Order: sequence, then C-alpha cells, then structure tokens
Amino acid sequence: TPLTAELQALDAAHYLHPFTDHQALAAKGARVITHGEGIYVWDSEGQRLLDAMSGLWCVNVGYGRRELADAAHAQMLKLPYYNSFFQTTHEPAVRLAARLAELAPPVAGRRFEHVFYSSSGSEANDTNLRLVRRYWDLLEQPQRKTVISRRNAYHGSTVAAASLSGMGAMHAQGDLPIPGIVHIEQPHFLQHGLAGESEHDFGLRAARWLEAKILELGPERVAAFIGEPVQGAGGVIIPPDSYWPEVQRIVDRYGILLISDEVICAFGRLGHWFAYEKFGLRPDLVTFAKGVTSGYVPLGGTLVGPRVAQVLIERGGEFNHGYTYSGHPVACAVALANLDLLEREDLPGRVRLDTGPYLAQRLAELEAHPLVGRVQSCGFVAALTLVRDKARGLPFPEEQAVGMRCRAHCFGGGLVMRAVGDRMIIAPPLITTRAQIDEMLGLIERALDATLAELRA
Ligand code: PLP
Repeated sequence: TPLTAELQALDAAHYLHPFTDHQALAAKGARVITHGEGIYVWDSEGQRLLDAMSGLWCVNVGYGRRELADAAHAQMLKLPYYNSFFQTTHEPAVRLAARLAELAPPVAGRRFEHVFYSSSGSEANDTNLRLVRRYWDLLEQPQRKTVISRRNAYHGSTVAAASLSGMGAMHAQGDLPIPGIVHIEQPHFLQHGLAGESEHDFGLRAARWLEAKILELGPERVAAFIGEPVQGAGGVIIPPDSYWPEVQRIVDRYGILLISDEVICAFGRLGHWFAYEKFGLRPDLVTFAKGVTSGYVPLGGTLVGPRVAQVLIERGGEFNHGYTYSGHPVACAVALANLDLLEREDLPGRVRLDTGPYLAQRLAELEAHPLVGRVQSCGFVAALTLVRDKARGLPFPEEQAVGMRCRAHCFGGGLVMRAVGDRMIIAPPLITTRAQIDEMLGLIERALDATLAELRA
C-alpha cells in the first residue's frame, strides 16, 4: 500500500535500527507494525502475526490492555513528571517500590526492602556495577572491583552493560569489555557437556568454572557475579538443576555479591514473580525491566537486598548516581496497573501450573519432527534446536543459516519467532491460552515443514 511504501522509504532514509544490518534491511524494507490486540500484532498490509516473542520478551499481559493506557493517561494529567533527586518524592514511585518489596520473596528470612529505578535493563545493570563497587569501597575493600559474568550472556547495550554481556560480536565493536569485567563459560549442556556426562554433573562442573575464576583472580579482588537465571538472548539456555545451588555455595564461600538479572525472567515469565525463587537463589541485587510494565512504557530498576542497602544507607552518604527518569511517575503508575493485572489474572500461577506445562508438553511433540533436535522450555520461554542429523544431533553448517530461514518462514506464515543461530526461540505473552498454544504449535509446524522443504529442494 502507499502508506507501507512511504513509511519504508522514510525508515530507510532516516532510522538507524538497533542490532540491524541496514543494507540487508534496505533490500527488503522494514515490516511496519501498526497495532496489537491480545497475543497478536498486525502489519500495515493487514497481515496478522501471532507474537510468540511478546515483542522483545516484555508484553507479558498482551497488547491492547486499556487499564494500562488509562493509568498512563490519568498520571500524565495529574503529574506527568517529577524527580526525586532533591529530597522530593511522589506517590507512584513510592507505591511501586513498596509493592515490589512486598512481591519479592524474602531471602533467608530477609526482605528486599529497597528499589533503585532506571528506565531500562541496561541502565539498571550500569547501576548495579556502580552499586557493587560502591559497596566494597564503603567496606574499605576497594580492590574488590571485578565482576564475573558469562559468555553469551546478555545484560544490555550501554558500555557497562555491553561489557557485562558476554557476546563477542558486541565486544568486538568499541573495545569492550571495560576493565574489571571478566567472563566464564555458560552452562550450556548441549554445547559443553562431555560424552557420557549427566546434566547434573555438567551443572556442577559449569558452576565450578566460577570458583576456578575466583581463585585465579584472587577472591579479595572479586566484587560480584552476575547471571540471568535462564539466559534469554543467548538462546534460552536453561541450566541444569544442579547449577544455581552450586553457584550459590561458591559466592557464599567467598563472600561475593550475587546479581540475578531477571529482566526477562521476572514477573511471571518462568511461572514466578521472581526467578530467584524458582531456582532457590539468594541474590543481593535483582535487575528488572521489561515485564514490570509489560513494555508499555520504559521502566527498569534494581531490587536492593539488605546486605547492600544497609551499607549504602548507613555508611554511604550521597550515592552519586541517578537518571532524570529514575522512578518516572507515568512509568511507575503503568507498572502498578500492570502488576494489578498480573495479580488479578494470576498469570504467574497460570504459567507455573497450567499453560506452562501444557506448552512444554506440546513443544515436546515437535521432537518427532525431522528438523528438530532437543526442545527445552521453562515456564513461558522455550527453544528448539534445529539439527541436520537427528540421530547424531549434528548441527547444520553455519553458512546455511537454517535458523534465519526458519524465522523467515514463521514470519511469512503469521508467526513471530526468533532465531539465535539454529535455536528457535519463543517467549509468548503470559495470557496465551491453551487453544492459542495449539494455534501457535500449528504455525511452528508449518514453518518447520516449509524450512525442510526448502532445504530438500
Ligand atoms: N538484561 C537482560 C537479561 C536482558 O534480556 C536485557 C534485554 O533484553 C537487558 C538486560 C537490557 O535491557 P534493556 O534492553 O531494557 O536495556
């Protein structure tokens, strides 16, 4: 249509997209998404897409929820902006902080009483780097600066967050990581498990890479370990059950702070309000963003546990850090309305007890498909690995870009699915019903069949 053509031309002329090869984009023209309802979005040509990625893992309550628009509208009329830098505060930021403190399960009997706000997950992880270094400075251990992260982790795109991320392609652009951030290998059994090794044993071995790194650096130089409970952008890497308890033992043993980056995993995505509960972790800091507002407006932050909060508040004086939009009233008002929906519809509970297990069961059936190797899922995130040779689990050569081909068939067939290499990823809105899961599975199967037909042609 003329509108599509106009927007595509303006897009190509003026808009630099995140994480995009612009020549490849210009060759095709960007798809223009115009509106959304429930788990679907529509493009400017009128095609409907089932959004099995919830946007970018964030639209937990689905599209078109009037309650969130109403909350934003009312707050904009009442107080569209104010800051909390100079001994002022406002109701939405206070109410949300108190609500999050109430929702976050206690750790070893102690609650997360405090929140530091940002507008995104990246900024929240920047805050975390500054918080952990500040913490150790205040305890007169300034040599404790190094933060250990994992390869293939994604913690965001600012300089600090991209450094914490473990993606080689990001580090190669811009001389990253910055000093004081190091990486260990990820707990990815399909990639790093040894012949004959059980997943349990692999999980313990992978956790002990952390201990080896701590000992190599010297424990007195290590400030914190950061990890996503389930790695998202890296390809939905679900660690073996033995991994996180062993990591917890190790950070406890060396007194190192633990940061649980739950930008994807919190607010029901894994069937719990927070993922540290599911994995029995005792983090000191918890990064959140995305699902806190279901992506309707930008908001992120850090839950600050008692260990750090106490030092920061009692000994800290002024923490020279903050953003114009820390605790933005409109974002906080939308977050409160979003938490109301998650709670009223018990979306974490539905994912944990009903739709999550159903999704896992339906996805597991795909292991019968000639293209699909292992299927892995946890709550409402899942990955299917596409393989060339099922019996031997052999991958396709990278240059065949089978994941991207499959993604194109999904897109063409009305389904948004993401490809990370040859891992096909989904993270559907938490409102997705059993019937919609069936519909989604049908679309996935069609895309797999089309990919197979293309490979055989
Ligand atoms: N941390 C994790 C685990 C993420 O998945 C993301 C984004 O996908 C981020 C941090 C960065 O968040 P943002 O894109 O809001 O800056």
